[in-house]
Amino acid sequence: MNFNFDNRFVNELPGDPEEGARRRQVHGACWSRVLPTPVATPRLLAWSPEVAELLDLSTEDMTSATFAEVFTGNRQLPGMQPYAACYGGHQFGNWAGQLGDGRAINLGEIINHGGQRWDLQLKGAGPTPYARRADGRAVLRSSIREFLCSEAMHHLGVPTTRALSLTATGEPVLRDMMYDGNPRHEPGAVVCRVAPSFIRFGNFQMPSSRGDHELLARLVDFTTDRDFPEIVGDDLNDRRARWFAEVCERTARMVAHWMRVGFVHGVMNTDNMSILGLTIDYGPYGWIDNYDPDWTPNTTDEEHRRYRFGQQARICHWNLARLGEALLPLFNSEAPLRAGLDRFAQVYVAESGRMTTTKFGFAEARAGDDELIAEAFGLLQQAEVDMTLFFRGLARIDLDAPTLEPLREAFYRDDLMLRHEAEFQSWLARYAARAGADGGPPELRLARMNAVNPRYVLRNYLAQEAINLAEQGDLSRVNELLEVMRRPYDEQPEYARYAEKRPDWARNQPGCSMLSCSS
Ligand code: AMP
Ligand code: MG
Repeated sequence: MNFNFDNRFVNELPGDPEEGARRRQVHGACWSRVLPTPVATPRLLAWSPEVAELLDLSTEDMTSATFAEVFTGNRQLPGMQPYAACYGGHQFGNWAGQLGDGRAINLGEIINHGGQRWDLQLKGAGPTPYARRADGRAVLRSSIREFLCSEAMHHLGVPTTRALSLTATGEPVLRDMMYDGNPRHEPGAVVCRVAPSFIRFGNFQMPSSRGDHELLARLVDFTTDRDFPEIVGDDLNDRRARWFAEVCERTARMVAHWMRVGFVHGVMNTDNMSILGLTIDYGPYGWIDNYDPDWTPNTTDEEHRRYRFGQQARICHWNLARLGEALLPLFNSEAPLRAGLDRFAQVYVAESGRMTTTKFGFAEARAGDDELIAEAFGLLQQAEVDMTLFFRGLARIDLDAPTLEPLREAFYRDDLMLRHEAEFQSWLARYAARAGADGGPPELRLARMNAVNPRYVLRNYLAQEAINLAEQGDLSRVNELLEVMRRPYDEQPEYARYAEKRPDWARNQPGCSMLSCSS
């Protein structure tokens, strides 16, 4: 393991003069120096071969004793400068003040053989100045969920942070999973997350909220310079405006992909929004089984459902507006920030429209498509139809003789299927006429649809089954799911069981359809 470190974040931005994990408010600094806390018995449980390759790590490196020690936090390699970042955020719509990396510790930025910059971060490596009252640790179940989903999202083509490794600490962690007064000891784990940058909207909100406009400006210009090198120019105002618009655009693309694949983030607080437009912080996230725009897996958000599936684009826009407010002191007027927010709306409408058109297999959008598509989603919701299975089935509809057969397996309830059968038949007839009007061979339509409609997504119950086994020491399912999710659009008949709809037992099971922030 011979990394080429280039730690620009700590070398170019001001740090906190105090070291160590004493809990405190940190002013005038973007980061605090703190070391991971060593654990009893670090052990590698799983790793992503693709991410290892990005970091120039061989199988030998990955499976060495050194790897498990370094990537669980027991020791550091030369060149590592561990730190926790200072950020704030709006949580569930309210300004929450300083939050920061409470249990994530950045090890450093490496430059790989191809010249790419990758930031390495351990999640669950012990307390930091930002841990507040918590322990800085993470449990195995949430670490498995983050590890698997990061990689699944990447292979689905959704912008995301990556996960290099999952290691066990050998130490128990106490958690009250459902916040119902039943805490239990769970195995502790660490995930090594990898991304070009872990800067969040909240990193900018923090100095702005304290009136520290100089630090805010430094952070904006640093971020643009390091992470958006394509945005150049001598006019600082113009450069910052273009940068904000780019952040808006990337966020729009990210959330359009979430809607395409049926991903619900669950905790879209501004401290969980990446400035690079990457999906970040996998907590009580979930995947849509039966199509329901009102669904959220997060029990903490049960009452208001602020972060429900169908509201995610609006929340992104709201979060960008909060980021824009934080940046306002750097601008002469609101106009460039408003332009950025408008860009979000334009790009989201265009991207989600394009993706939806392709999901339905149309070569291009035509008049009348919007109504046909809206009707389909309405039917999917009323009849409780599995979103993922529906779109794969729709691709197999014979346009010359459309029947419900390829779609039957997508229904969760026979009674609802019967009740809505005539409406589906009527819709299918109009759909077949519309899709047929595109012309072209049926294989082309099938290929087009199957390239955007996944066969495999990390359904909540699949992750939970893997967790149950892993807690008994059997990592085989974690590794098998990692393997399946590498090719989510391929049929992979040998893994057909992982494409099945949610079984009945998982409908209201903690960990499957109900998750809390406890992790
Ligand atoms: P989240 O909702 O997971 O994004 O977390 C919100 C804030 O709480 C972040 O600042 C986290 O770093 C912090 N946090 C969550 N869990 C822990 C923990 N076990 N120990 C320390 N900090 C935590
Ligand atoms: Mg977070």
